[in-house]
Amino acid sequence: MSQRTKIKALLQSQQTEIDVTVKGWVRAFRSNRFIALNDGSTNNNIQIVVDFENTDPALLKRITVGAALSVEGKLIASLGKGQTVEVVATEIEILGDCDPETYPLQLKNRPSLEFLREKAHLRFRTNTFGAIFRVRNSLAFAVHQFFQERGFVYLHTPIITASDAEGAGETFHVTNFDLDNIPKTDTGEIDFKEDFFGRATNLTVSGQLEGELGAMALSDIYTFGPTFRAENSNTTRHLAEFWMIEPEVAFNDLIDNMDLAEDMLKYVIKYALDKNADDIEFLTQRLTEEEKSKPQNERSEMTLLEKLQFCLTNDFERLTYTEAIDILKESTPNKKKKFVYPIEGWGTDLQSEHERYLVEKHFKKPVILTDYPKEIKAFYMRQNDDGKTVRAMDILFPGIGEIVGGSQREERLDKLEQRMNEMGIPTEELWWYLDTRRFGSCPHAGFGLGFERLVLFVTGMGNIRDVIPFPRFPKNAEF
Ligand code: ATP
Ligand code: MN
Repeated sequence: MSQRTKIKALLQSQQTEIDVTVKGWVRAFRSNRFIALNDGSTNNNIQIVVDFENTDPALLKRITVGAALSVEGKLIASLGKGQTVEVVATEIEILGDCDPETYPLQLKNRPSLEFLREKAHLRFRTNTFGAIFRVRNSLAFAVHQFFQERGFVYLHTPIITASDAEGAGETFHVTNFDLDNIPKTDTGEIDFKEDFFGRATNLTVSGQLEGELGAMALSDIYTFGPTFRAENSNTTRHLAEFWMIEPEVAFNDLIDNMDLAEDMLKYVIKYALDKNADDIEFLTQRLTEEEKSKPQNERSEMTLLEKLQFCLTNDFERLTYTEAIDILKESTPNKKKKFVYPIEGWGTDLQSEHERYLVEKHFKKPVILTDYPKEIKAFYMRQNDDGKTVRAMDILFPGIGEIVGGSQREERLDKLEQRMNEMGIPTEELWWYLDTRRFGSCPHAGFGLGFERLVLFVTGMGNIRDVIPFPRFPKNAEF
């Protein structure tokens, strides 16, 4: 077998007049002469020039969109426009035929994103999804590189857990029971003692609590793994299975936590901009094209590329929940009753319409809100002296809303237990968590970044189902 060269490398080759082997899938074949071949290493195709007069017509017929080819030939400086090099074929082998009558992805009628969601097994073959998944890959790598450069330990927290202690969302049950014959106790309840783990278990909604245990010895840890929420939220920003990045850092306070999150977001966005310039250029054009069909006032003022660059060069706006409520109360849409949920007083959770107003209309940049009312936040957040608020932070991004949720943690055992009791969180069940506060407790802070929301932002896509290879959402687990 001859060595193949990837198309990305061929297109960047300084050398021509060399023999090459290239393999990929046909994107287009025109005039029986020019094949556009793609192997996923880049959005750009290499042009293969076919000597059709000396090629078996039966072979030419099999060069159809989607077919897999192996081509041997000479790399030459291109004579035509639109590419610098091309391959003059000396040998073409069909590795896999693709019947044009039944192949769903014919390029002529540009398939919609909705259509492609139903063909998720094939959608990698389009320019848009090729670009999205290369960008996603770079962002994932950059996340690791960012933390590794700073001496963080990548900690693998469990996927199967025994409690939704955090109350972050509805959980998926994990069981080994024969569902037609579930063991019951004398009083008719499900007898989890008979189940695999001897207790009720579920898929994790967050690795934070276990992450804190690691941080109490390793100082700086992060998780990067799948999380599961059975919330029936059919939105463009929620999945039932999504990936979360959760750093947890001993001795950090909320300011350090905000700095870490902002640095990290800028670092990974910059990494993708550098590494995936072609893909982001393509996605920028895609979005601009898509927005042309929207009314003027719904189009964004900046292109995708401009938005990403803007995000790198500007400090995120930091303010408290209370300050945000004051701004929202006085805002034009609130006074003109344009909000579906009018801002009346202090204490209620912000809806996505409020978050987007702050980010997109008022500040026109990413915003970090801090010090939320304790009633709307989790039990483990550090209580402020005012007795009303906690050291929470949410990072809000344009077009997305909440992308990060985090806090400084309550490190004082008595305060933590008191809050758990108030909120009805079982302290016995979380004995191991409370042990960190008994033995060498210290201030610490962390956050959770929803990876797909980050990918949404960087790719400029509008629906979270398009930035994960095989989305899981209510009534869908195909592929
Ligand atoms: P939201 O209010 O948007 O549902 P949340 O408050 O439930 O978010 P957290 O529990 O703080 O979110 O989770 C941390 C991060 O995980 C969020 O900031 C978000 O980026 C992401 N996230 C949460 N739920 C989902 C989901 N169902 N699908 C994808 N990402 C999610
Ligand atoms: Mn939620």
